[in-house]
Formats: sequence, C-alpha cells, structure tokens
Amino acid sequence: TEKPAGLIMIFGATGDLAKRKLFPSLYRLYKKGNLSEQFAVVGVARRPLTNEEFQASVKTSVENAIEDHKDLDDFVSHFYYHSHDVTDSSSYQTLKGIASDLDRHYSLEGNRIFYLAMAPEFFGTIAEHLKTDGLTDVSGFKRLVIEKPFGHDLESAKELNERIRKAFSEDEIYRIDHYLGKEMVQNIEVIRFANAIFEPLWNNRYISNIQVTSSEVLGVEERGRYYETSGALRDMVQNHMLQMVALLAMEPPIRLNTDEIRSEKVKVLRAMRTIKGDEVKDAFVRGQYGAGEMDGNAVPAYRKETMVNPESNTETFVAGKLLIDNFRWAGVPFYIRTGKRMAAKSTKIVIQFKDIPMNLYYGTEQTLNPNLLVIHIQPEEGITLYLNAQKSGQNMEATPVKLNFANKGTAGMNTPEAYERLLYDCMRGDATNFTHWNEVALSWSFVDNISEVWENTKAENFPNYESGTMGPRGADLLLEKDGFFWWPVT
Ligand code: NAD
Repeated sequence: TEKPAGLIMIFGATGDLAKRKLFPSLYRLYKKGNLSEQFAVVGVARRPLTNEEFQASVKTSVENAIEDHKDLDDFVSHFYYHSHDVTDSSSYQTLKGIASDLDRHYSLEGNRIFYLAMAPEFFGTIAEHLKTDGLTDVSGFKRLVIEKPFGHDLESAKELNERIRKAFSEDEIYRIDHYLGKEMVQNIEVIRFANAIFEPLWNNRYISNIQVTSSEVLGVEERGRYYETSGALRDMVQNHMLQMVALLAMEPPIRLNTDEIRSEKVKVLRAMRTIKGDEVKDAFVRGQYGAGEMDGNAVPAYRKETMVNPESNTETFVAGKLLIDNFRWAGVPFYIRTGKRMAAKSTKIVIQFKDIPMNLYYGTEQTLNPNLLVIHIQPEEGITLYLNAQKSGQNMEATPVKLNFANKGTAGMNTPEAYERLLYDCMRGDATNFTHWNEVALSWSFVDNISEVWENTKAENFPNYESGTMGPRGADLLLEKDGFFWWPVT
C-alpha cells in the first residue's frame, strides 16, 4: 500500500462534516495502515480551542462512529488546532508557521492538502489567501479539496473556479461528489466493462429505459436557510444524479485512468439534450412535501419547517426525463428522481431491457416480465438480475427469478465509507472520482435552463406530495406517457 506523507489542513474542523465523516475516515485509514506516521492534521475554525481540546473532540467523533478504537491516542496526537478568521491575513501567517513546523517535525515532505469543509461563500477567499500568504509555496504537492455546492449556477461556479484557479491548477483541485466515493457507484464501471454479458447489450437496441432513484426519508432538518436557496435540482441533480447518468451512459474509456474516464463522462454531458422554456414542463416534474406520517409520527410540511418561507416555491423533489443524443443512446430515456420525505431511503439504478421479440409462454393477454438489472447503491449494496425461468412442476410456463449479489455479507467486512476512499485517493493523487471543471460547467448549463423556468413560474400546486410517499403524481405520469412505470425501489 502507498502511504503518502503529508499535512492535511481542514477548514471548518469544528463542523458537522469534519466530525461525522472526516475524522472517522482518517482514523480508519490510519488503522488499516494506509496513513503512515508521517501525517499531521491542522484543524482550522473560528472557535478558540487548545490542541488538547481539539484532540479530545476528534477522539469523541471517532468513538461515536467506530466501535473498535485502539491506538486512538496515537492517532489524535497528530492533530493540531488553529483558531482562525478566514478573512484575516495575519492569521494565515500564523497558520503558515504551524504548517512549516509540522512539516519538519513529522517529515511531511512538503506535501499539503487543504480541505475546505465550511460554508461555500468562503471557498474563494480561502483559496486566494492560501496563495497570497504563502501557504501554497511547498516543496511537495499541494491539493485543494472542495465540498459541494460548487457554485449556485454556471455563472457563480465560473467565478468561484476563476478564484481558486489563481492558487491551484485544475489537476490540483479535488471537487468532492461523495456519491463518486460510494462502492457501488464505482462498481457501475466494473459491471459494465469487466463483464462480457452486459456491454454488448448496453445500448438502444436492447435497453428500453434506465431509472435512477435517490430518495431520502429525512426532511430538510436544520438546513432550511441553505435549502431555500438551493432546492433538489441544485442540491442533488446537478451533481450526484448527473454523475450517475454519466457513468451509466459513457463509452468505454481507452484506459481506466483519470483523464480518459473524465473525458468520456464529459462527452455524455455534451450529448445530453438541452431542455428549456416550454419543454421543461413536459420533461421535468417538481414537487414539495406536505405534512404526512412517517414511521407512525406526524411530520410537518416543508413550508412549516424552520427558516423556510411559508409560501416557499422551493422544490424538495425532482423527476426528469433525460435523452442522450448519440449513436448508443438515441431513443432511450434516462429517468431520474430524487427527493426528501419519501417512503424510503434508497439509491438505486434500474436498467430495463427490451422485451423479447415474441412471447411463447403466455397467452396474448398476459405479459412476460422484462429483464432488469438493478444496481443497489444504498442502503443495501449489490446487484440483482431479474430473469425468467421455468416454473417448477409446470410445463411451458415462465416465472421471474432473481439472481442476487449482496456486497456487504459476501465481503465479510464493512465496505469503506465514501469519504475514506476519497481522502485516500486525494492523498495518492488520484482524481478519477472527483469532478472536473468541464463536468461541473456542463451540468450547471443543463440545470440552469430548468431553474430559470421554475424560478420564474410559481408552482401552483405546492405542496403536491404527502410526506412518506414516492413523490407527486406527475412523476408517475412522466413515465406512463411513454408506456413505462417506476420499478419499486423498496
Ligand atoms: P458546519 O456549519 O457544521 O461547519 C462550519 C465550520 O466552518 C465550523 O467549523 C465553523 O467554525 C467554521 N467557520 C464558519 N465561519 C468561519 C469563519 N469566518 N472563519 C473560520 N471558520 C469558520 O458545516 P458542515 O455541515 O460541516 O458543512 C461544511 C461543508 O461541507 C459545506 O460546504 C457543506 O455543503 C458540505 N457538506 C456537508 C455535508 C454534511 O454531511 N454535513 C455533506 C456534504 C457536503
């Protein structure tokens, strides 16, 4: 195993993401021996804390997330803290001193990762200061890891990109899309490109449609203020949903390396048919949750949540039909849907194959089930293939059977968490599972056309789905008018 040395500087180290994901992930890497002793972490946030207090809070977050925690004291001894105002130049000077000291003390080889885990309005400022105050003058590598959202639309994303590009080159920028760190999302490529039985069928001659669902049961929780300016289209579709579509639809890359994979994904996004103006209402459906019951408890409507406008026009659900205009996919709809307060927490991809040319097994009134390949991304991980086989004891009658592969049970161990993989990838300098600027820009231009219509027309029927359901009726109609339906994901 590679064990790259380096300093990891986390901006927003007292925040939710750092505590729930980053510290536990770093600890897992440490325990597996994927982090050498040549590492140090500097936590940066506003609150004044001593190194000891910070180390204690890192310990607590690891203990909360992981049962077995031996060597935890050794691990946290690598953590340091600096109380910092992100707009104050002198504070970066201090930080630079700390970084140089740690570099010598732990022999970090001049390698630095800057992880921005705080409110996006600071991303540009921090990147600029890192350069002007000398923190990016390093003898080893320097990398910037940046959380979502990357901009609010194409224009703001461009502006942000220009600011961070002053301090980091494109190949030093690691834009997080944590879906790309998930085991089964990475597995899409393996299923497609390592099996002789799928790739020959992976086109418009044999696939009738593809359905990508990412549903949550949670509502907006404490994120009302942010969510009001975002909505499901920006929060989920622009990044995670379109990334999954790109992986499903891309051509086989000539090599499985960062540049080749990214360039194939970019081609998919370029081939995606633009939907704008009047076309939006035919291809996209927006929803907002009303009150309802979840697990026997009454839950409030979105408009009643904290920091949410009582007449909010913000969508908490999106369904859409995407078309990819190239030889492989012409005529095959990719349906996507995502939302909050839905019936189940589930991320799944269903690939529906076309019907066989003629059905020999049933009379004309009864249909044979189509073959389906289901990729379960979360909470279960695995694949299911639905086939038809002879019904036992019967003559000439077919019955559906399921071939199931569950990732968890089989491997006999927990699959690594997305953040663990992504942090390790970044330390090794592998940017494959991060989004390139070209992907960000193309996804924003696609999504901007839809937001433009939605922002300028009030949704008359909001709220239009009850909490605890699979979304508004319109989402079903979207498929029904093409002769399809959403395959159940629960
Ligand atoms: P948070 O509000 O919990 O934490 C914000 C952090 O920023 C705190 O450590 C705070 O001290 C620091 N901070 C704020 N203002 C500062 C200032 N002026 N100077 C110095 N430090 C300052 O946020 P979070 O939930 O941890 O999210 C951080 C980022 O990660 C956001 O971009 C968010 O969109 C993204 N993200 C979070 C999650 C999650 O699960 N929480 C998931 C995906 C993406």
